[in-house]
Amino acid sequence: MFLSGAQLKEVFQKAKKQRFGIMASNVVFDTQIRAIIQGYNSVGSDGLMQMSSGACKYAAGESQDIKAGAQLISTMIKTFAAQFPKSGIGLHIDHATPNYFDFIVYCVENKLVTSVMIDASKESLPENIRITKEVVDLAHKHNILVEGEIGHIKGTEDEIVSETELYTHPEEALEFVKKTNVDLFAASVGTNHGVSKGENIILRLDLVKEIDDLLIKNGVERGLVLHGASGLTDEQQREAIKNGVVKINKDTHYQMDMAQEIQAYWEKEKYAIVCPPDMDPKAYVPNKGKFDPRKWLIKGENKMQETVKGFCLVSGSANNSILL
Ligand SMILES: [Zn+2]
Repeated sequence: MFLSGAQLKEVFQKAKKQRFGIMASNVVFDTQIRAIIQGYNSVGSDGLMQMSSGACKYAAGESQDIKAGAQLISTMIKTFAAQFPKSGIGLHIDHATPNYFDFIVYCVENKLVTSVMIDASKESLPENIRITKEVVDLAHKHNILVEGEIGHIKGTEDEIVSETELYTHPEEALEFVKKTNVDLFAASVGTNHGVSKGENIILRLDLVKEIDDLLIKNGVERGLVLHGASGLTDEQQREAIKNGVVKINKDTHYQMDMAQEIQAYWEKEKYAIVCPPDMDPKAYVPNKGKFDPRKWLIKGENKMQETVKGFCLVSGSANNSILL
C-alpha cells in the first residue's frame, strides 16, 4: 500500500533501530514500477520509489510538463501499490535542486509524494541550510519527510553532474541537521553516480559511522542516505547499514538489467522482425507472437524484480515491513 509520510517515518525509525536498509529505486516507466513494487512485496519489504526531475519531464512527453509527469508517475505508483497491503511503498523526489522549488511545493501540496530531497549542495553551507530549512518547514506541515545533502556525489545522475567528490565533514553535517531539521541526511562518502565498480571506489564508510556517532551524541540522530550505490558490493552495503545508513539509492543497476535482458531477447529472436539473409524478402513474415512489446518488455521487468528482491535480502529489509 502507498504509505503516508508518518508511516514512512516509522519505516525509517524501525530500519535505523534494527540496522537494516530501505531500498530507494529510481523509476520512470510502468514496467519498472510493476517490477520493483512486486519485488518489494514478494519478500515482505517496504521500499521507496524515486522520481527525478528529468524522469518527470520525460513522463510528460513532448510538453515536458514536470508537474503533469509527476502526477502521472505518482498515480501509477499509488494505483499499483494499493494491490499489496503488506508492503509499504513511498514515493520520493530525487535530487530536486533549488531551481525546482515550485515543483517541490506542487508535489507536497498535492500529496503526490511521501518524501522529497532538496539538493542545495552546490550552494554555500549557509545558503544550503537556508533553502533546505524552507523546504523542511513547508513539507513538515504536510507530514512529508525531507532529505538534505552537503558535499557532492561524483558522477552523472540524470540532470545532476558533478566532476568533483567532496567528502562530507562531520561537524558540518551536525550543524546542517541541527539547523534544518531534515529527516534524512545524504552524506558524501565516496560513492559514484552512474557506472562504477565497488573495488575502485575510495569508500569512506568510517565517515558514515563518524557522522552517525556525532549526530547521536548531540541528540539529533537521523537516517543516513547512500547515493550512487549501484556499484557497491554486498559487503560494502552491509557495512554502510551497520554504520547508520537507512536509505540506499539504486538507479543504474536496474537500467542495465533492462537493457541486457532485452538485448539478449532480440539477439535470440532477431528473425522475428528481420528477414533472414538466405530468405526471399517477399516470402518473409514477421512473428507477431515475438514482437508484441509485452513479450520482450516482460524480460526486463522480471529481471528487475529478481534484482530488487536480492537487494532487499542484502539490506535486511526483507520480512521487515511495518505492515506485516
Ligand atoms: Zn543521488
